[in-house]
Amino acid sequence: MYPEIPVTKTANPKAKPVSENSLGFGQLFTDHMFIMDYIEGQGWIEPRIVPYGPIEMEPSAMVLHYGQAIFEGLKAYRGPDGDIMLFRPRLNFERVNKSNERMVIPQVDPDFCVYALKELLQLEKDWVPSAPDTSLYVRPFIIAMDPFLGVRPAHHYRFMIILSPSGAYYPHGLNPVDIFVEDEYVRAVRGGTGFAKTPGNYAASLIGQAKAYKQGFVQVLWLDGVHRKYIEEVGAMNVFFVIDGKLITPELNGSILPGITRRTVLELAQKLGYETQERQISIDELAELYKQGRVSEVFGSGTAAVISPVGKLRYEDMEMVFNNGEIGEISQKMYDIITGVQFGKMPDDYNWMLKI
Ligand SMILES: *Cc1c(COP(=O)(O)O)cnc(C)c1O
Repeated sequence: MYPEIPVTKTANPKAKPVSENSLGFGQLFTDHMFIMDYIEGQGWIEPRIVPYGPIEMEPSAMVLHYGQAIFEGLKAYRGPDGDIMLFRPRLNFERVNKSNERMVIPQVDPDFCVYALKELLQLEKDWVPSAPDTSLYVRPFIIAMDPFLGVRPAHHYRFMIILSPSGAYYPHGLNPVDIFVEDEYVRAVRGGTGFAKTPGNYAASLIGQAKAYKQGFVQVLWLDGVHRKYIEEVGAMNVFFVIDGKLITPELNGSILPGITRRTVLELAQKLGYETQERQISIDELAELYKQGRVSEVFGSGTAAVISPVGKLRYEDMEMVFNNGEIGEISQKMYDIITGVQFGKMPDDYNWMLKI
């Protein structure tokens, strides 16, 4: 369907990691990467797979000055019989186009991107680790390349996919984390770029993260930028609350990133017969419901952790502890089913997985 992608193989393949149990995250990269360029008037051209390594760009490259860029994150998993599978990859490349639209970057062909990723993974398949709960993290991204200091959308972009073997997110089991409710700094505002996966959102979040760390918390619960009252996300994850047995998550309002794990949790919960709600929820409403003993579980959802239970929330002087600081039943069930399907230990009744 698509023409073959030319491959330049590395002359110096790297040694594979000795221990898959200490891979960590995002530190080690495979032998090859995918690149294509966009030139105004020509479209996306010259898709190619080349050895992983530094790229040349001018110090005046627009991305370095004005941050016109987007990225994605997904994982390739090794199943019990050695098969390599991707989790709902087309959704990531559809989201690329939503991010691109906001950042005035030209659209990509999501099917071609999935094809290119499959080709790259075919070549790099020995880099997909097989120790329990390890995976190959996939990082597609697009950057503005023009050597130009004027402020306007670029005319030349580069799309790349790099791969990084990553360790188990929970080497010691799912442990709930302590979260600081940030009511000074905000991550995103409505009308801004919150729904786009763009690097600037992360740059803007670092200070809140650092502040939380300093006070002994692992992550930040972000509130909305206008009222600093409505709950948006937890760290770089979407957030769910189990209230009166219902799964509630903030509705997508333009400043929340539409997570694929979020969507998966909502779809799965409905299939399992839980009631779900996407709605505005303020920190004060949460505190009130908590006092009434109606909030049984809180968790974050995202590709890296899948499900990240929240043990404790600190909001000003108030401390909310959920499920005695232990992982709740629904959180555990969501984690077990989603990761079970991802690692090929459970049947894929949902058509989530794409075999490469
Ligand atoms: C990527 C991301 C998420 C989670 O999205 P997934 O598709 O589930 O990985 C949530 N919030 C932010 C800010 C993100 O960048």
